[in-house]
Order: sequence, then C-alpha cells, then structure tokens
Amino acid sequence: MKYDVIVVGGGSAGCTIASRLSEDPDRSVLLLEAGPDYPDFEHLPEDLKMGNNVWLSAYGPHNWGYTAKITEDQTELVIPRGKATGGSSAVNGQVLFRGIPEDYDRWAEWGNDEWSFTSVLPYFNKLETDLDFGGDDFHGSDGPVPVRRVPRTEWLPHSVAFERACLDEGFPRDEDQNHPESTGVSPRARNTIDGVRMSMAINYLDIARHRLNLTVRGSVTARRILFDGNRAVGIEAESGGEVFTVEADEIIVSSGAGASPQLLMLSGVGPAEHLRSMGIPVVHDSPGVGKNLRDHPAASVLYLAKGEKPDVQAPVIQVGLRYTVEGSDLRNDMQLSPNLMTSEHRPAHVQIDEDLNYVGMGASLQLALGQGELTLQSTDPHVQPNLNYNYYQEPEDLRRMREAIRLGVRMAEKPPFSDLIEERLMPSDEELASDELLDDWLRKNSGTSHHVSGTCKMGPDSDPLAVVDQHLKVKGVQGLRVADASIMPDCIRANTNATTIMIGEKCADYVKDGR
Ligand SMILES: Cc1cc2nc3c(=O)[nH]c(=O)nc-3n(C[C@H](O)[C@H](O)[C@H](O)COP(=O)(O)OP(=O)(O)OC[C@H]3O[C@@H](n4cnc5c(N)ncnc54)[C@H](O)[C@@H]3O)c2cc1C
Repeated sequence: MKYDVIVVGGGSAGCTIASRLSEDPDRSVLLLEAGPDYPDFEHLPEDLKMGNNVWLSAYGPHNWGYTAKITEDQTELVIPRGKATGGSSAVNGQVLFRGIPEDYDRWAEWGNDEWSFTSVLPYFNKLETDLDFGGDDFHGSDGPVPVRRVPRTEWLPHSVAFERACLDEGFPRDEDQNHPESTGVSPRARNTIDGVRMSMAINYLDIARHRLNLTVRGSVTARRILFDGNRAVGIEAESGGEVFTVEADEIIVSSGAGASPQLLMLSGVGPAEHLRSMGIPVVHDSPGVGKNLRDHPAASVLYLAKGEKPDVQAPVIQVGLRYTVEGSDLRNDMQLSPNLMTSEHRPAHVQIDEDLNYVGMGASLQLALGQGELTLQSTDPHVQPNLNYNYYQEPEDLRRMREAIRLGVRMAEKPPFSDLIEERLMPSDEELASDELLDDWLRKNSGTSHHVSGTCKMGPDSDPLAVVDQHLKVKGVQGLRVADASIMPDCIRANTNATTIMIGEKCADYVKDGR
C-alpha cells in the first residue's frame, strides 16, 4: 500500500497535519495512531470527553504512563501522555495559551527566520475561533479550535480569592493572556465547551473523516521508519499483533516529544555511538536526537481547605498569573495558579484523603535554563525510552522556584483566602525560612507541568544539535519530517498545546507548498 503522506501519531500536531493535508483530494494521507480511535463522538469515553477533571483523564486508561527521573531525589515520576486520537490534547488541561513574542523571536534569532512572532501569528489566528476576542489582529474567528475564557460570574471561590490576592500583591489585571503584551492575572483561555474537552481529534479530524483520501487507523504502532539508502520510504507498523509495511512519498513523524526521538533512534537516526551501543544500524548520525529535553518544572504549596470539596467535574481551571520573577531578566518566566485536587498538577506522591478538601498554589517555571535527555533503553518499540528531565541543575532555576513558592505562600495566607484555607501541609515554616531546605523540598516535591518538548529541535546547519531544518525536514535524510512539540528549540513561556498545533499548521503549509 502506498500513500502520498503517512503521519505517525494522531496527537495535537498529527491531527492538524492530517486534516490540513487531506484538504487536497488528490493527496492520499494515512494517519497512524498507537492508541484507539473513536470516530463517533457519542462513543467517546468519559475520561477523554469530560475536560474539567484533568486528573481522571491524565492518569486514566488513555495514558502511556511513562516514568521519568526528574531529580536525584525523584527517579520514577509518572509522566502522562495521551494515547488515543487527539494524543495529549485528548487528556490535557485545555489551557490554550500562546508563548510571548520573544519566545518565537528567539527561535528566529537562532537561525529559524520563518518562525519569528510575526511569522507564526497568522497560524495562531488560523487555528482558533476565539469566542471572546475573535477577529482582531491577534485572534482568529473561524479556525477549528474554539477558545473561551471562563467569565468571572462563573468563578469558584478559589479563583475569586486568587485574583484578589494577585491584585493585592500589585500584579495587573490582564483580560487576555493571548495578547502579545500580556502579563498579570487573567481568566484562563480554554478550549473547553460545556465541560467537553475539544481535543484536536474533535476539532481537526472529525471535520475531515468523510474524505476518501484520508485514512485514519487507530491501535497501530509504528515500529520503525523504513529507509532505502537515506530516503525514508515507509513505516513498519504493528496492528492486531501482525506486522505490516506501508509506503509513502513522505513520512511525517508526529509522535510527541517522547516517542518521536524514540522512533527516529529505533530507525537509525540519532547519536551514532548510542545507536551502535544498542545494535541499531546507523542511517544518519544526528547527535541532537533526544537531547535538549525541555519542560516547565512545577511544584505546589499544599493546603487543607475548609468546606466541602467541589464537584468531581467542577470547572476548576479558571485563572492564572503570569509574571516575571524578581531579579530575572526573562519576561514572564513564571506561572502561578490555584490547584484543586482534580487538577493534573495535584502532587502525585502525596497521600490525599479522598474525603477531605485541598487547595494548592502551583508554581511553574516557564523558561528553565536546565535541560534533560532522552535515550533508548531497549530496541523494543513497546519499551519506553529513558527520560531524564534533569531539573534544577542550574542554581537560577532553583532560585526562581523558591521565589515563586514563597510568593504563593504569602498570597494564600492573606485575607482573600482566609475563608478557604485551614492549614498549610507543605512546605513547612522551617523549609520556607531556609534556602537550603527549600531547595531540598523542591528537589523532592517537584513535578512536571506536562510540557515536554525540544527533543528533535529545529535549527540551522551551524547548530550541531539541530535535528530538523526550519521546514521541519530531518537533516541528513530525504522524505522525512518531524512536526510536534519535539521540534521547539526551547520551550515557550506558556503551555505547549497552542504552539504545537501552530507547528502542525505550519508543517502542513510547507508540505503543500513543496518546501
Ligand atoms: C496531563 C496533561 C495536561 C496538559 N495540559 C495542557 C494544557 O492545559 N494546555 C496546554 O497548552 N498544554 C497542555 N499539555 C501539553 C500539550 O497537551 C502537549 O504539549 C501537546 O498535546 C503535544 O502534542 P504533540 O502532537 O507533540 O504530541 P501528542 O499530542 O502527545 O501526540 C502524539 C501521538 O502519537 C502517538 N504515538 C506515539 N508513539 C507512536 C507510535 N510509535 N506509533 C503510532 N502512534 C504513536 C501517541 O499515542 C499520541 O497520540 C498537557 C499535557 C498533558 C499530558
């Protein structure tokens, strides 16, 4: 079987690319997804459909459940990634949040001139229908992804208290986090409609499924990319226990920042020495595959809260603060938000009494200076790669997190929260008072913001660690692109879904234009 294009991975980027490329009826597109596909909305399982309780979705049945070492003190943190059409957008928190202009301008400065803020802005607008601000210079009005901010009239008490505490601290009110000059406390822009998570399977695939030139196959795992010389010609894929070969003129790997570098390495594209040590024949020595693992380290101050816990599907993700840490020259390098125990940021290792009510103040470091690494632990595609997030190697990362945790405590222990909070469970007063103890607490109690990225980074030939060029073509081989969160040269200062969809939109245009 030969297609024009095979897209490997039906996540945020893969759904976007498959849908856009199949707009041309003369192009045949095959989308392969390792997790199940649910073409009929009526039969979409609740954990994917219901978007407000992200804990149940992220740690539910449609999750790869990788584990990662994030610090020397935490060597087996569970890393959820979506495993179904929609990918991680089918299990995520639905905060549709763009990076700031400097993020994309830095990508351009590093030799990717087609990715400056003014170059990516039209794609951000193209992907969305912003129900609050749609149609102006900075927001789309007829794209596939619906975006809405929870109006203040619907806010729960913790959101009201959080905004009040931010204003009392002197942060500005910011009505639109997707405005290029945004900073301060804002209602969260979310792709949730009536409690339903509008994943990219719903937004992009469902509008394209009727096309006879688009084939969507769930429960199919790509095992490796097949090469003829240095040209990618097909995929070896496993379906129902059998192994098949499918061919295409072009392969686009969109398996996410964990699985894309894994698939490249299993196929012979990666650091030559590492591949040889695993017994994998080298097709192309690409030292950057799996390097540059980026994320947003996160930690939460945890409180026992007064009153009844909210309904299991209450819309608790409503508000957030984006600000610059004191003494930092990186604008908007921190996010702070109130967490409830239905959040995917609930501290995974803390024993929670299901009958009690808790609230957290979650800090998420937006431009960590440190970076981690991904390597193969097996040549079996079903065995997850080694993930070393390597948090807090840079003292400045710890310093900024200490500042944010202390700010979170200061805000939560002032009058706006006094009707809500019973007592602080962690960190202790002693830990808060000492830099050394607080660093220790952070190393033991941090988690991921779920924004893994950067493991197949885009860059010019002068960058020895660049895996793809700025048209997302894998260097050193033909007929192969990577397009997903892994191509980000650095993680943007925002949650990663909107940027990943933008990458998918841009990739589709590159393919259409033959670039
Ligand atoms: C719990 C959680 C909460 C999050 N919350 C937010 C949020 O609120 N806002 C935000 O902006 N971002 C959020 N994110 C991050 C965001 O969802 C991701 O950055 C984004 O979805 C990544 O898109 P992707 O296309 O790179 O990968 P994915 O969407 O993960 O897609 C990769 C796909 O490839 C498939 N795949 C992998 N290997 C293979 C293979 N060998 N063969 C076939 N298919 C394969 C996977 O099953 C998956 O469907 C969250 C993520 C998680 C996990």
